[in-house]
Amino acid sequence: MSLLTLQGRILVPFIMGTYQSERFSAAKGQCDLVRRRDGQWFLLVTVDLPDGAKTPTTDFLGVDLGVANVATDSDGVKHSGDGVETCRIRHHTRRQGLQKAAAGRKRRGRRPKAIRRKLRDLSGREARFRKDVNHTLSKTLVAKAQDTGRGLALEDLKGIRDRTRFRKAQRARMGGWAFHQLRTFIAYKAQRGGVMLEIVDPRNTSRECAVCGYVAKTNRPSQAEFRCGVCGHTDPADVNAARNIRSRARAAVDRPNDHGGCRHPG
Ligand SMILES: [Zn+2]
Repeated sequence: MSLLTLQGRILVPFIMGTYQSERFSAAKGQCDLVRRRDGQWFLLVTVDLPDGAKTPTTDFLGVDLGVANVATDSDGVKHSGDGVETCRIRHHTRRQGLQKAAAGRKRRGRRPKAIRRKLRDLSGREARFRKDVNHTLSKTLVAKAQDTGRGLALEDLKGIRDRTRFRKAQRARMGGWAFHQLRTFIAYKAQRGGVMLEIVDPRNTSRECAVCGYVAKTNRPSQAEFRCGVCGHTDPADVNAARNIRSRARAAVDRPNDHGGCRHPG
């Protein structure tokens, strides 16, 4: 790599993994040189990959993003993202401990510098772990939709934090999970793989019966369970929600005219 420095131009050797070298020819001529806190240098290169040819489809894999499982799909498969919950709890506990220690030092008039650094390192590690899980998860979901000739359907997550289906304690825990990142990863991997992506209205996906359409708060006897008060249909609550997400996407492509974000190929 040739870099222009204050002391003139220098040549620096650099290494790439297989993933990077396969895509390097698509580099857009724009990059950032970044120094991480641990002293390692990275070259962040923007690549411009062609979109896959969109496969027209009328069926979707509905995906519900949640707490107990990071994602549940409308086939009833739960994607837990191995170790996510353990990692979440461990980091949370550790952070609280460090924050307490920092506050204690401050009270005694000392600067909690070392503790602050530990907190920073912790959040860096946590972010890298999350990113890794989100990459794996989005890859799995997009591949599944692709292999079965379906599109992907997700809820519009703008309001996810104040969703009624999450109790306060859970909302607090979820706040830390990067659902936005997961959705971004799913979106670009879907686009690259030619998989249709539908974003559906999230209202009542957790209260509506996926079989008969009856909507009621009482359809949820517990956080984990769905039981329809009219037809008696039962399912794990996240599976029922994922099935609703799937049917909303199917309905949206059935009548594309009253669907604002039409993503039909061509
Ligand atoms: Zn029902």
